[in-house]
Amino acid sequence: MKLCWNLTALCNENCVYCFRELLERPLDLEDNLTILKKLKAIGTTSITFAGGEPLLYPGVDILMRECHNLGITANLITNGSLLTKDNLDMYLSNVTKLTFSIDSPNSFINETIGRGAHHYEHIKKLLPYIKEKYPNIILEVNTVVTYDNSEEMDFMFEALGSEISFYGLKKWKISRFCPLRGYAKERKNLLSVPDQVFESIKDNYSNKRAFFQIQVRDLDAVEENVIISPSGNMKKAFNQEEYTIVSDLGTKDTEEIKRLIRKDGGLYV
Ligand code: SF4
Repeated sequence: MKLCWNLTALCNENCVYCFRELLERPLDLEDNLTILKKLKAIGTTSITFAGGEPLLYPGVDILMRECHNLGITANLITNGSLLTKDNLDMYLSNVTKLTFSIDSPNSFINETIGRGAHHYEHIKKLLPYIKEKYPNIILEVNTVVTYDNSEEMDFMFEALGSEISFYGLKKWKISRFCPLRGYAKERKNLLSVPDQVFESIKDNYSNKRAFFQIQVRDLDAVEENVIISPSGNMKKAFNQEEYTIVSDLGTKDTEEIKRLIRKDGGLYV
């Protein structure tokens, strides 16, 4: 089983379309280490650490190291702003796949979206160090398409091709803005991309030839993910609503977790 673990709702960026969990407090590291052992016991093979910004969770490096010890693949989705050339070993030494969130190479658009004007340049400067130290890391970029950047995809494609692909970019995921929860839900009408616009992006990019793979993901893609929320609840989305499959994972034994997943989530048959 593959999971996405949203360790914290905290973030140091302020993206207008963010759908992080605003109401859940993060668990402390000991509780999350207990949950991790239970996730291993129910057959988890891969965990993608995300947030909020996962690097704001004290102990994310320890959780990823423990994944390595348990034989679970650890992946990281980050805005990249807290990575520096001096802390790469702390955060990346146990990461198999590293995904940067980049919505535009344009500093004005990044400022408008809430990422901050220097977002793209910061990641660009880091990439030579990452490639040198971790040449085998799988590098991906996630782009969320909103009303603000829907005209930007050609610029993104060019920037990725000319400035990022050299550093080993494997995949560019273009995802449609999804008003699942949080600010995203409140701002649905302001940020949603009309069907026609997203269909045109899909047509342009689904079969585009590039040095990296391109995947265009519509609203239903969010239903593929099984989420662990900051407070330790296992959730899944269906029809644009999110449901809790198992609450308080840390308090339940593995047989009970398996039974609840079988009953509510259909993950075990
Ligand atoms: S989308 Fe990601 S980087 Fe942006 S505010 Fe939300 S958690 Fe932070």
